[in-house]
Amino acid sequence: MARIAVIGAGVIGVSSAYLLAKAGHDVTLIDAAAEPGSGASAGNAAQLSWAYGDAMASPGLLRHLPAIALGRDPAFRIRWQLDPDFFLWGLRFLANAPFSRWWSNTRAILELAGESRRELASLLAETGLSFDYRLAGKLHLYPDQHSFAAAQSAVSRKNALGFEQQMLSRAEAQEIEPALAGYQGEIAGAVYTPGDALGDAAGFCRQLTHHIAQHHRVSLLFGRKVAGFSREADRLAAVRFDDREELAVDAAVVAAGAQVRLLAAELPEVRPVRPVRGYSLTVPRTAAAPAISLTDVKRKLAFASIGDRFRVAGLADIERPGAGFDPARFEALRSAGAGVLPHLFDNSVVLMRWSGERPMTPSSRPIIGPSEHLKGVYINTGHGMLGWTLALGSARKMVDLIATQTR
Ligand SMILES: Cc1cc2nc3c(=O)[nH]c(=O)nc-3n(C[C@H](O)[C@H](O)[C@H](O)COP(=O)(O)OP(=O)(O)OC[C@H]3O[C@@H](n4cnc5c(N)ncnc54)[C@H](O)[C@@H]3O)c2cc1C
Repeated sequence: MARIAVIGAGVIGVSSAYLLAKAGHDVTLIDAAAEPGSGASAGNAAQLSWAYGDAMASPGLLRHLPAIALGRDPAFRIRWQLDPDFFLWGLRFLANAPFSRWWSNTRAILELAGESRRELASLLAETGLSFDYRLAGKLHLYPDQHSFAAAQSAVSRKNALGFEQQMLSRAEAQEIEPALAGYQGEIAGAVYTPGDALGDAAGFCRQLTHHIAQHHRVSLLFGRKVAGFSREADRLAAVRFDDREELAVDAAVVAAGAQVRLLAAELPEVRPVRPVRGYSLTVPRTAAAPAISLTDVKRKLAFASIGDRFRVAGLADIERPGAGFDPARFEALRSAGAGVLPHLFDNSVVLMRWSGERPMTPSSRPIIGPSEHLKGVYINTGHGMLGWTLALGSARKMVDLIATQTR
């Protein structure tokens, strides 16, 4: 069995390390941060969106693009950058927006989500980990009849693939989630997905890391940044840290999220991964909080009751990489959340103010596979809006691939 380094301990890296260790490999899980789940996985919307999977580049977003480019949609912000990779990413994004591309991307994401769902069921049965996982169900709230009617086509296609989704009136949605009575946003109708779940992604990372270090041949290296790779001929020989120390390995899995771009000089195939920054606000959960997960389609906000916490997450800012937390954008999120659920977000105790970079490809499909530039390196990144949902399925795909290549 091989010695494999996994670079990055977010949901993707930890899931990869878990399945690699179960396959019998000697795994070293490495992260620049002090603890697992510190990147984009730290404060996300917690949704395990088995039946959503919609690629970001879509005909609807394309129609809306002029308003976004002019800064007229508070949910989005584009910072134009004099960077060839930025323009290339934009062009590829536009090429993925036509309906046929959108649907083929969405379908591929849904297949991967199905694999994740199966893997998560096995993981829960095997490990008994508890990270506030819950079969919460989800309601997508549509603000007007036009957008609600337009949702029917995707719902029918997903129903045909076996995903359970229903179109509900506001009254029907309110029967399922009585807390909608106090919802201040427009609701013309809702798409109900009873099978969607949620869980705390950061808790998952911490607990699964602890579990694999205890029960499998997994070593942990936290607070160590990988700067590159050493090779023998065209093959990986070692992972090189920023202090020039090396770790000899047979293979490496790169699960570095949006920061993967820092390794692009040696792995040019990761260039299409760009950061799309989002924000979240977590407050204590009260009795008036919705139990079901909600997505406000107009405001692009996701709400989740995670254990004893309640979270709103949203915004999609195409920024300069590493731009960092912007208090004005956080306030935009907070006031949008408070606008629809004032009793939860006005004057509440704040448990966490957070922002993170989604590692986004132009197609929304992750890059999972061997590097074409360095034998022995495998890439597992670019999961964009849905990394938590796709984590275990992506890890399974990659581990199976490594098995066929190292046989
Ligand atoms: C606001 C928001 C809401 C979201 N909501 C959802 C949701 O509800 N459902 C869903 O499925 N997805 C959601 N996502 C997306 C999801 O969070 C991401 O796709 C996912 O967290 C990406 O995981 P990752 O492991 O690839 O990256 P990360 O979690 O960012 O992990 C990468 C890790 O690699 C480490 N690293 C990077 N470079 C190096 C290096 N050179 N050396 C060592 N370590 C390195 C970093 O320190 C980091 O810990 C959301 C994202 C955001 C921002």
